This record gives sequence, C-alpha cells and structure tokens, in this order.
Amino acid sequence: EGEGGGGEEYLFKIVVIGDSAVGKSNLLSRFARDEFDHNSKATIGVEFQTQVVELDGKEVKAQVWDTAGQERFRAVTSAYYRGAVGALIVYDITRKATFENTKRWLEELNIHCDTAVAKMLVGNKSDLEEIREVSVEEGKSLAEEEGLFFIETSALESTNVMKAFEIVIRAIYDKVS
Ligand code: GDP
Ligand code: MG
Repeated sequence: EGEGGGGEEYLFKIVVIGDSAVGKSNLLSRFARDEFDHNSKATIGVEFQTQVVELDGKEVKAQVWDTAGQERFRAVTSAYYRGAVGALIVYDITRKATFENTKRWLEELNIHCDTAVAKMLVGNKSDLEEIREVSVEEGKSLAEEEGLFFIETSALESTNVMKAFEIVIRAIYDKVS
C-alpha cells in the first residue's frame, strides 16, 4: 500500500566522533546490521552508511559518517562535519581519558557545525562493567552541563545502539518536520 502523502523525504547527516578505539565503527556497523539487514560492508575506508528509518509514515534517511581512522591523527576535516545535523560523541567507559577528550570533540563540533545539531554523548563498552573508569553519573552530569542527550551502549552486546541513533534521528526530525 502506498503511503501517499506529500512526498516528503528527509536526509540527515549524522557524524560519529570520539577518540580512536572507543567503538565508533562498531556502533555504526551494529546500527546497520541490526535494523536493516544490509549487506554489511567493512566500514574501513567507507565514508558513510545510509540507513532508512520510517518516522510518522515518512521516509528518513540517516546518513551516518565514520571517521575511518582519521581521528588517530587529529585529521578529521571540515568536510567530515559539513552539513551534519546530528552527532554521536563517543567515549569508552573503561578509559577515562577518552571521556575527558569528549570536551575537545565537542569544541571541534561546535566550531564546524551549527549549534542546533542534535548531540548524543555515548559511553560505549558498557559490557565491561568490571573495568569501568567512568561512572554513569559522570556521563550524565557532563551531558547535562553541555546540553546533550546521554546513553551508555555496548556495540558488542548490542545494548542501546539502536536507541542511541533513534533518539538523535527523532530529535532532528522533530526540529525540521
Ligand atoms: P573506533 O576506532 O572508535 O572506530 O573503534 P572500533 O569500532 O574499531 O573498536 C575498537 C575496539 O574496541 C575493537 O577491538 C572493538 O572490538 C572494541 N569494541 C568496540 N565496541 C565495543 C563494545 O561495546 N564492547 C567491547 N567489549 N569492545 C568493543
Ligand atoms: Mg573506526
């Protein structure tokens, strides 16, 4: 059955940023695999993956960008950020330094993007509770300070990964629709 409707179509560019090895690429591939059963390509060297989500009967394309390792050399370019309307700022709950660096990533994001970008602070690797270095409270309070959504995820166990992306996509959608 056709949806009819006004033929509206949305394309949202979402960037995933954060230190090396926090799990950015795995979050993206988990997002891709779980919901749409895409032919899962290696994310290495791939600039972005596009996923189609349906919201209120409308087709929303989430174009999610992966840094493909540039973050290791602090070489994430303006092109990467250009046109982004959503961002996941990721740290690893088992490495405090990656949490502290989210402030740096946020500054960089704010330099390159409009303040209206929907931002989610993501504490990844929640499955590694026994070697946790960043508490849930610390994550929450930073997010509150900076006006970000907050979630802890495990790309490994597939915990909250869809939810992280969905919250961001929904927030963008609510702004533009
Ligand atoms: P990126 O450099 O930020 O893109 O990080 P990757 O996605 O390449 O992941 C870096 C390392 O962390 C890899 O060894 C992954 O297997 C591991 N990793 C990623 N996500 C998780 C997670 O949720 N839990 C655990 N235990 N390991 C993870
Ligand atoms: Mg990566």
